[in-house]
Amino acid sequence: MDSNFRIGTSSNACRSQFHPVLVLNADYRPLSYFPLSLWSWQDAIKAAWLDRVDIAAEYEKVVRSPSTELKIPSVVVLKDYIRPKKHATFTRFNLFLRDKFSCQYCGAKGELTFDHLVPRSAGGLTSWTNVVAACAPCNLRKGSKSLKQSGLRLRKSPYRPSAEELRNLGRKFPPNFLHESWMDFLYWDAELDE
Ligand SMILES: [Zn+2]
Repeated sequence: MDSNFRIGTSSNACRSQFHPVLVLNADYRPLSYFPLSLWSWQDAIKAAWLDRVDIAAEYEKVVRSPSTELKIPSVVVLKDYIRPKKHATFTRFNLFLRDKFSCQYCGAKGELTFDHLVPRSAGGLTSWTNVVAACAPCNLRKGSKSLKQSGLRLRKSPYRPSAEELRNLGRKFPPNFLHESWMDFLYWDAELDE
């Protein structure tokens, strides 16, 4: 077997780009939720060929190399367990995730912005404890005032979440594209979280 797989025609080759592969840690949990750990099918086949992953589920689509053919993997599992990070990375997305995609002043969901509690103009830092998700009207109302001056109230004080907490939150906010073979691995314990 060699790792040099091709899909027959060029139009198929294009479509094959939309066969992302869900990557699970050795404990069968996604390596990460946000962003969801995905590889291209080419990388997944290469990793399987190098014996770094097991294939847990497949697409119907078949790819061929000169010597063999196989189905494109849809889920692979790492053979070696990767210890998850303890602390969450400070990113815009993770901050929205911590705040459950809702305005921390009024609870509105949908279009959100970032609000600095201590305004940047007053030396406020862009950090876990000084930034919250806010809808545009609340952000406008807060402006460069202090929390007290603005008359707004926080639903929850901002804090630095653990990576584990964000992983758990992540399960409740699935990304848009989910292949059906991923579902068992993404949500098997979702009910226990409620
Ligand atoms: Zn609001």
